This record gives sequence, structure tokens and C-alpha cells, in this order.
Amino acid sequence: ACVGQRQLPEATADAVRALVDSGQTGPRALPAPQLSDLPQLRRLLSGALTADAVLAELKASVLRGLGGAGFPAWRKWETVRAHAGPRHLVVNIDEGEVGTFKDWAVLTDPQAGAMQMLEGALIAAQVVGADRIWLYLRDEYHDARVHLTLALELLQSALTGFGQAFPGYQAPAIELRRGAGAYICGEESALIESLEGKRGMPRLKPPIVALHGVFGQPTLAHNLESLWWVPVILDKGGAWLAAQGRRGRSGLRRFSVSGRVNRPGVRLAPAGITLRELVDEFAGGMPPGHELYAYLPGGASGGILPARLADVPLDFDTLAEHGCFIGSMAVVVLSQHDRARDAALNLMRFFEHESCGQCTPCRAGTTKAVQLLQAPVWDADLLGELSQVMRDASICGLGQAAPNPVDSVLRFFAHEVNGEDAR
Ligand code: SF4
Repeated sequence: ACVGQRQLPEATADAVRALVDSGQTGPRALPAPQLSDLPQLRRLLSGALTADAVLAELKASVLRGLGGAGFPAWRKWETVRAHAGPRHLVVNIDEGEVGTFKDWAVLTDPQAGAMQMLEGALIAAQVVGADRIWLYLRDEYHDARVHLTLALELLQSALTGFGQAFPGYQAPAIELRRGAGAYICGEESALIESLEGKRGMPRLKPPIVALHGVFGQPTLAHNLESLWWVPVILDKGGAWLAAQGRRGRSGLRRFSVSGRVNRPGVRLAPAGITLRELVDEFAGGMPPGHELYAYLPGGASGGILPARLADVPLDFDTLAEHGCFIGSMAVVVLSQHDRARDAALNLMRFFEHESCGQCTPCRAGTTKAVQLLQAPVWDADLLGELSQVMRDASICGLGQAAPNPVDSVLRFFAHEVNGEDAR
């Protein structure tokens, strides 16, 4: 079952250090975050930069939500800003998508990680008029929590004197909340339910979170990485970021690359790069004895593509014709030693476990699908019908997208489901 956030007495840096010293949390030692003097926030508060100018740069940058949905960031900001307060900013760090570990990498970068994200969050809060910032952190990220807690302390010292330098500036209250291991709490409305102290289950939409978010008030909800880019955009200009892509795409993306590659890890690469380029240029190629057979372009829900589609540009909106999507850019590479049907079964088991149980098509559908996927020869017609029902009638993206890997196997790897193995 899905539960809300963990209500533990939150964490002063001293308390966290004591936990670390006692060995109770087991975090790895990470370099401490560096103090920043928040240069872009200073520009905004001094009037050198207006809120409208920030929005214009954001628009020029073509920054999209990097948690998976890819919604244009500036549109969310404008919507929240246009509606009466009080308003909230939610930073989604409940990184739980299969194969995704980019938020952890961003957060724990000592040079420009948590502090830069916090500067982006303060800028966003100032532009949209949010007076409270909620950080919702995946609780399995023990080391990141230590790091973030230290960064929050540093932020307080960086903000010391802002009241005098910028009369009238009241920094938003920032609250760090810890998740409790529920994948579904990465869905923004479930996350907000959890923040409010309730069981983390997705809400029916509309109304959208931008208008009816935390405690029913306008809420800007962003993935950590989206906010991390804000100071970069204000420093280098939105046009700079927009010009970084390949094949007409805009921006840079952090791909979490894993599976059959020589150098798995988080790779900052141009939007629109192909899988083949990503593996060869950024991940050290494939190990000896392995040839590309298939890949997951977007974690658990983004489907599975065959090797012959390794030259498709990877970005939002480019994979839909193949029944896939990029999501949070978790790329898992499979070789001839793997089977796509095994991956699909494994992922469906994951969805079955993580379904919040609120609606029948997802709760019962994932269980039924797991049963069907274990047959040596798949019942393609029945699986197709089940997928359609889940897609049409599930409340949220988990149930709607859970059939994607199965549909991919039926579409691209038919030889596997017929009991043949003609790789
Ligand atoms: Fe919960 Fe699944 Fe329904 Fe989403 S689709 S609300 S996860 S049961």
C-alpha cells in the first residue's frame, strides 16, 4: 500500500551528522555543498532583472519539465502567477522512475547541485509569488538528504543580510519532507496529497495542480532538475540553452544510462541525440560480446524499442509514433543476451507492486497482466484488450502507461512472444 511522507523530526544538520556518525543511515560520504552568493537571485531582487524578463528568458530557453511530462516551464509559471495567492512551490525530488538517477546526481554535485537548485527555487518562488517551498525527497536517498540538509543551512547563511540589502524581501519558508518509498508519490498530485498528510494517491484532474495544488491553492510543481537550470538560463541566456540540441531539438538533457554499456551513469547530452550516438559518444560503447538488441528510452513506462530504431532522435514528442516516450530520460540498453519480454514482465511486476490501488483497471489490470505475461506463449489478443482498458480507464499515468512495454513487445518483438527465439 502507498503511504504518505514519513513524519520524522526533521533534521538539523547536527542531527543528521549524529545519525551519520552513529552509522544508522549508512550514507556514503559526499563532498559538502559549496556556499553560493546566489547571483541570479540578487539580480532579480535588485531590480536588474524583472519577473517578466525572467519569464521571457525561460520561454526563450524552451525549458520543459524534466521529471517526465515535458510541459513547457514558462507556461506553468505564468498560470500560477496569474492566480491569486497564497501560492506554493513544490520541488519534486521523489526520484523513483526505473533506471533514473539523474536527480540524485544533480542534488549531490558539490559545485553546482543543491545550492543551484535552491537558487532556482527561490527565483521561481519570487517570480510566481509563492511564499512557501516544499522539498519532497525520496527517502532512500540518505546521502542526498544529508547533502541537502547541509545546503539548506548554507542557504540560510547566504540569505543573511538579504533583508537589509533588499528591503521588503521575505524569503519563502522552506520545508524538507521525506517520502516513504511509494513510487506513485512522484506523481505530482499524489505527492501533494502526501504533503498534506494524506495517503499518497493521485487526484482526478481537472482541476490541475497549478490552480488547485497544496491545500487547494495555486502551486508550481517542478522536478528538481527543471529548477536547477533556471540560474544557468539567467546567466547564459535562454537562447544559449535553446541552441544546444541536435536535429532541431532544443536544450541539454541528463540521460541516466544503464544496462549493456561500458560506462553507465548520468550523461549530459544534447536533446535530439540518438541512442546510437548516446552509447558511442557518451557511454563508452557496448561491452565486448554484446550487440545492441533493444533499449528502453524512458524508464519503466516509456516502452521498448528495437535496435533498428537506434537512430531516432531522443526527446519529448519524437517517439510517440513508435508507441514510446522519453519520460525522465532513463535509457536502459539491452543486448542479444537479453529478452524484451523478460524486461516487460519485470516492469509489469514493478507496476503491480507500485499501483496505489485506487482504481480497478490499474490495480487488477497489472495483476492480470503479470499472470498473462508468465505464459510461454503470450495471448496477444487478450493482452491487447487489457492494455486498451488500462490505457483508457486508469486514473493516472501509472496505469495508463504500464502496458507500454507489453505493447512494444507485441509490436517489435513478436518472435519472442510466439515462443520462438530468433534473435
Ligand atoms: Fe492508483 Fe494505478 Fe489508479 Fe494511478 S492508475 S490512481 S496508481 S490505481
